Formats: sequence, structure tokens, C-alpha cells
Amino acid sequence: MSVRVRYAPSPTGLQHIGGVRTALFNYFFARSQGGAFILRVEDTDRERYNDQALQDLYDTFEWLGIEWDEGPNKDGGYGPYVQSERFDLYTRYAEQLVESGHGYYCFCSSERLDALREQQKQEKQGQGYDRHCRNLTNDQREEYLRQGIKPVVRFKVPLEGTTVFEDILLGEMKKKNKDIPADPVLLKSDGFPTYHLANVVDDHLMAITHIMRAQEWIPSGPLHILLYEAFGWEPPQYCHLPMVMGKDGQKLSKRHGATSVIEFRRQGYLPEAVINYISLLGWSYDDKREFFTKDELEELFVLEKLNKAPAVFDYKKLEWFNGQYIREKKDEELIELLLPYLQKENIVGTTPTNEEMAKLREMMPLMKERLHFLPDIVPLSRFLFQEIEGYEADELIPKKLDAAKTIEILQADRELMAKFELVGEERTEELLRQKAEELEVKLGAMLMPVRVAITGSRTSPPLFGSIRLLGIDKTLERIDRAITLLQSEDS
Ligand code: GLU
Ligand code: ZN
Repeated sequence: MSVRVRYAPSPTGLQHIGGVRTALFNYFFARSQGGAFILRVEDTDRERYNDQALQDLYDTFEWLGIEWDEGPNKDGGYGPYVQSERFDLYTRYAEQLVESGHGYYCFCSSERLDALREQQKQEKQGQGYDRHCRNLTNDQREEYLRQGIKPVVRFKVPLEGTTVFEDILLGEMKKKNKDIPADPVLLKSDGFPTYHLANVVDDHLMAITHIMRAQEWIPSGPLHILLYEAFGWEPPQYCHLPMVMGKDGQKLSKRHGATSVIEFRRQGYLPEAVINYISLLGWSYDDKREFFTKDELEELFVLEKLNKAPAVFDYKKLEWFNGQYIREKKDEELIELLLPYLQKENIVGTTPTNEEMAKLREMMPLMKERLHFLPDIVPLSRFLFQEIEGYEADELIPKKLDAAKTIEILQADRELMAKFELVGEERTEELLRQKAEELEVKLGAMLMPVRVAITGSRTSPPLFGSIRLLGIDKTLERIDRAITLLQSEDS
């Protein structure tokens, strides 16, 4: 039987790391097995439903390049793939369970259920439904219906016995039926299904073979197995994925940093890096290899290599991956990715001039090494396109020195830089070193003021490279300006 897997998000919030990890693993598994990856939108909870969340789901998938084989707008014969378009099905299957004796109508009012909860609290009893309507007589039922009370459908959880399912990763999972929360609602009085009913019915009707999902769904496992049995259906295979934690061992959450994929996108991560890093959360190929393209994962992913242990999300590591992927980009491709950030800051025009493009091409080798995120290009390259302004005289002055000494340094720098192109980088550095000794300052103190003078910042791309890109004339002009600034400060 060919593999059919699904990602079944509820559009209630943004797609976060955990969800996207589930989506990717299902997607890679389908691809590696020559199976089908299905996207199903579980939007039965109309109170928590949110249009933007649905849009975010589509945007995230598009950005990461995850294509579904079947799903919204792509029917593979098992649609519709949005649960709110399948409501009559759930009613039909709920009624089927009532008819076969596995479900029953419950007419309890919310007042009765509230009072029950209150009483249970006072008597310190376990919470949950008391199965009041499980054994109504026909007459009682008729009477309620005659009164026009709209019932819910509840599932008749067996009172005895144990339910077992086999998890591909975790092995045998067991639960005593008496520990399954009493008789969950399958169909609400307004005809809306609950998660359990819709999820099981759809997984069956869509011929899903494997369910790969987060471990938080383990507690639902036994109930779902009982539902499959009640319907007389073969359950799919289960595989609950390891948790994703922050470094402190707590479940990954906003406290740790960005968790929604859109945020990573906004911060200037590349989809390649995000995919590669996420795929290593609970999965590994071997203990050496870390780099995988999406294509490779589509081939290599196997369930046998999932880890049981929780995965730790390391922001620094993702950042490192991002830098690696940036460096791997061809210059032209990287320029395309960087342009929007430069344009937003008016560093480069909306339609870049030839001159601007030439400068971008020229600077790429130097910048590439320094980019962790795409927007880093803005502070790194601004000095090449715009006059720098706004630094204070103080920023030119190295630690423990004063304005007079800094002027002296800058004048010496100016003299050496003027001949830089003739003399070459190595020789200039040697001369700078000598000069530093003469002036009794460290090489760092010799270079820092030029750096600030020409880039406006103490952190910049490598100095000689920057000077080369800026050109000698501009470099000298900016050094002169710095000297003038210091002189006005000094007098
Ligand atoms: N709609 C559920 C969710 O939001 C699906 C859980 C499952 O995969 O069964 O995660
Ligand atoms: Zn009831």
C-alpha cells in the first residue's frame, strides 16, 4: 500500500517551528517513499478560527517550497480538504455510531454540566462527565426531543479493558479505558464535529497510512483507536514526534525567542537554512553530516532515524546555518535577495542604476563573509552608497587617547592610504605597523579612527577591502573630514 500522510493544522495561530517540523517530516517521508503528502485544514473550531492564520499557513508553505500533492485547490479524489466543507459527513458518521451502539445522544444542559463540575470540585471527585445520558430509556429520549432540546453525540468509552496502540518511535502505548476521559463529545448540538471525530473520519476517508504528529497528541491516541474499532476501520500507523525544547529544557515558546516561521522570514533567514535546521530537530542522518538540501531530504528521510529524545532548539545554531547558506549563494542570487532590504532603506533606488548594480557586484565577496542575516547588509554597506553622517568626534578616539593624538594618527593614516594603491595591501599594513610603533600606539588604535572616519562605525567590513570599494578619493576626503571634526572639538 502506498504511503499517504497528512499535515492537519488548525488555523488558529501562526505556523510555528513545531508545526512546520511536523509538516516537513510528513512531506519528506511521503517523498522518500514515493507516497502522497496531503494538506488538510482542520477548521472545525470556529471560535478560534482565524483567516490570517490560514493565509500564514499558505505563505509559510510557499516560502519553504512545500507543495502538497492533495489539499486545498488540489483535489486528488479525496476532497474537500477543508473540514468546514465536510460537515454533513461528520453528522452521518456520528449517527452511524449512535445506531451501532457506540455513541449516544446527550441532552444535558450547560447548566447541568456546570453544576456537576461545581459539585465534583466540592466533593474533590475526579472531573468529567457523569455519563448521565448513557443509559436513558427510549421514552426519556423521546421526551427530550419532543421538548425540542438539541442533543450532542457522545462516544461510549468502554468501561473496562485497556486500549493499546503501537507507536513506530515509542513502541507500545497503553491506557486503561477507565482512565480515558468519560464519553467525549463527537458532535456538538449545532452539528459541528469535535477534533476527535473529524480527525478520525477524515484520516480514514482520506486513506491515511501513517500519522506523524506532535507528542502532545499521544493522550488522544487511545480514544482514536477506540473510534476506529467502533467504526470497524483499520487504524493508521502512529508516530509521535519528539518534543522541541528551548535550551532550558522547557517546551519551546515565545520566551525563548521567535517561534513562528514568518518571524524568521522577517528577520532575514533563508528558507534553505530554516528547512535544514528544522529537519535536524529530532532526526539525524548519522552523527556527522549536518548539511542537507530540501531535495536531499526528500530522498534520505526515513523514520528509522528519528530520535526519541527531545530536540533542543538552538537559535545560535540556526543563525550559523543561515550564514553558511548565505555564503553558498551565488553573488547574483544573493544580490536579488538583498535588494529589498537596501531599497527599503533608500540605499539603492527602486530600479537600481547600472552603477549601483556594479557596486553591489563588486562588494559581494567582501560582504558575504559578514552576513548572518539578510538585513545585516544595511549597516554593512550604507557607507558605500551614502555620505556618512552622525558619528560623534568621541567615536573616533581610541581608548586612553585624546583628540590631539587621534589627529596625529589620522594624519599618518592619510599619508599611507594615499599611496595604498601603489604600494599594495601588505606593504601598507607593514608601514602602518611601523607607524604605530613610532607613535607608541597599538595597531588597533592606528586603524580604528580610519574605520570610523570612512564607514561611520567601529564594526565594518575588512578595512582594506572597504577602502578599495570606496575608492581612495572618497577615503581621503572622509579622513579629512574626521580630522576637521576633531580639530573643532580640540580647540
Ligand atoms: N488539528 C490538529 C492540530 O492542530 C491535528 C492533530 C493531528 O495531527 O492529529 O495539530
Ligand atoms: Zn447528558
